[in-house]
Amino acid sequence: MTKGAEKISLSSPVSCLSGIGDAKAKAFARLGIFTLRDLIFHIPRAYEDRSSVSLLQNVADGEKATFLLTVATVPTSVRLKRNLTVTKLRAFDDSASVELTYFNQDFLKKVFAVGDTYRFTGKVERKGKRILMTNPQYEPYMPDLPLPDYIPVYRLTEGLSAAALQKACAQALAACLPQLEDFLPEEIRRRNTLPTLQSALTALHSPSGLADIRASARRLAFDEFFLFALRMQMSKKRVVTEKALPILSADRGAFLSRLPYELTGAQSRSIDEIEADMRSGTPMGRILIGDVGSGKTVCAMYAVYLALASRHQAAVMAPTEILASQHYAEMKPFFEAMGFRVALLLGATSQREKREIYEGLQKTGEGRIDLVIGTHALLSEKTVFSDLALTVTDEQHRFGVLQRAALRQKAPRSHLLVMSATPIPRTLALALYGDLSMSTIDELPKGRQRVDTFVVDSSFDARLVAFMDKLTAEGGQVYVVCPAIAEEPEEAEIPLSDLVTEKEGAPLLPLVAAEKKAEELSLALPHLQVGLLHGKMKSAEKEAVMGAFARGEVQILVSTTVVEVGINVPNACLMLIENAERFGLSQLHQLRGRVGRGSRKSYCVLRSDAKGVTAKGRLETMRTVYDGFRVAEEDLKMRGPGDFFTQAGSDDFRQSGGLAFRFASLCQDETLIFAAAEEAKRLLSGDTALFTDKHAALSAELARYAADSAAVIS
Ligand code: ADP
Ligand code: MG
Repeated sequence: MTKGAEKISLSSPVSCLSGIGDAKAKAFARLGIFTLRDLIFHIPRAYEDRSSVSLLQNVADGEKATFLLTVATVPTSVRLKRNLTVTKLRAFDDSASVELTYFNQDFLKKVFAVGDTYRFTGKVERKGKRILMTNPQYEPYMPDLPLPDYIPVYRLTEGLSAAALQKACAQALAACLPQLEDFLPEEIRRRNTLPTLQSALTALHSPSGLADIRASARRLAFDEFFLFALRMQMSKKRVVTEKALPILSADRGAFLSRLPYELTGAQSRSIDEIEADMRSGTPMGRILIGDVGSGKTVCAMYAVYLALASRHQAAVMAPTEILASQHYAEMKPFFEAMGFRVALLLGATSQREKREIYEGLQKTGEGRIDLVIGTHALLSEKTVFSDLALTVTDEQHRFGVLQRAALRQKAPRSHLLVMSATPIPRTLALALYGDLSMSTIDELPKGRQRVDTFVVDSSFDARLVAFMDKLTAEGGQVYVVCPAIAEEPEEAEIPLSDLVTEKEGAPLLPLVAAEKKAEELSLALPHLQVGLLHGKMKSAEKEAVMGAFARGEVQILVSTTVVEVGINVPNACLMLIENAERFGLSQLHQLRGRVGRGSRKSYCVLRSDAKGVTAKGRLETMRTVYDGFRVAEEDLKMRGPGDFFTQAGSDDFRQSGGLAFRFASLCQDETLIFAAAEEAKRLLSGDTALFTDKHAALSAELARYAADSAAVIS
């Protein structure tokens, strides 16, 4: 099976498997798979449902289906060119017969024998009375050996076929499963009726049925919440013992007088809470949750002001360069006018500039940088502060607890403020952010207009184009969000998260792809500039398109959900969301918050051809509910918490919210989260150090989890 005689372990590189050379190993690396452990945790993103067998007669042209067919003729091969052979045969079921064609697989002559039955899956072509299939997949069928109903579909990359991945995965499972220790204590597993890790992984890669898939996904989701909760609770224990840097009272009036508006009640309450924490003598650990546009930034700026006014330093970290640059544009003039030095540190910042910033941050006297704003570039070992008293992280769900910990390690006595624009139900927030105090901004600034929301189907397309034309003619700008980048081959597959959350059985509608949509719109509106933005583009390209949109040079921005995170273009007045049925409600709400930020009357249009009652009900919620916290509650009621962690159409794994949570979207109900948090607490109360022999496997897993999550952002 595997190469050589060296001992295979979970940490062995994938290249130790037979059939994996340098090129394949590189392809695996592109998927984030380096070791056998990575490979066995690379669980299918979807399954193809082959449980229902169709009759040839009933399947229309272009449809993909599964059939039980008996071979009728001896296969014949013809060589058409030097590198092209065609193998043909006929097969039939009770309703009709079909011509099967395979390219460059003349070994099939020896595979298919007349009279044998196979399960074929593929796309049907109809030409008059003839029925054809090209390169359908086949599995030998034996009446007493049932074939699996669900076939795994993996995330793939160029140079790595499904078959190659499957083969490697099977080898890895065979070699490693016996050595895989289940880190979850037996009694926790039993109390929560979870399968062992071994059986969960086996089942996900080759499920015997739907129940199997669900139980296994539940186990992985539980693990993640459990580890998350453990770390949260452990980090809190550590933090409270440190004394905070002293924060002096500051002149709030002077701060407020520099703002062009009055604070809302919720903002005032939040900065009261922040100030009380920062002056309490112990390090603050607070999360500020508020809808998009609720004005969190100014609250963060007040915290920064408190730190700077006490002659300390502050750092503000955002998950993307775009967001960091926006904060910089807003905060630099504000604080420089007060006499403080402000710097921007991005991954893209030149080496020379970076060196200057590192030096400026380490200074104690003249020329010290007081406030640095940046991306996770701030976490580099080279950023050393002389006197860091506060870190603010924006949109924290993109970072996760470990990045916060990493920043805090740079200054253990510093205060921490986390901003999140994902209003989540309070119960969930308490379970997830157990270690943080919470401020909520549940009130929008006065005079803020409501973004009128409409639900339409494709019969409105012509009117939508006319509407875009009208809005842009008036000087407005438009976002169009699509769930996919490029058109994908039609697949009869069901995303894993849909399988486990028991979503409506309605067939998935074809995805509108951003590339195609952008093309269509530039043809339909040739006098307008249409931009395209997605996660597979290089960072510089993204910045260029976003910049052009921000400057108004591009009027219509077609994108995947990369626009979701806090981008601010006040001139944008229409948010059109394609395949709206694919998105979580909270995510739709986030997207809607991208418009209505300026003085223009703004609209959100949810385009969906979904006919199901559930899908329609969800979209109807969006049309009638405008408060993010209530949207979240509704979401939780309707679909379970998986939605908060699912990012429909996020095409960039690192951005997918799957930072701390890779499997959380597989969670069906919130009780799993509470159970995991509860078990963590119970365990810690008995074994605070977690380092007794009994929990050796668990503490090893915890260390690995920490390293994994940290690696994601590097
Ligand atoms: P978010 O909570 O999404 O980060 P921001 O802090 O970016 O929201 O604020 C959104 C907009 O609202 C900004 O343009 C900001 O200047 C403005 N704003 C914030 N607070 C108020 C207020 N109390 N009154 C009026 N405008 C406000
Ligand atoms: Mg913001």
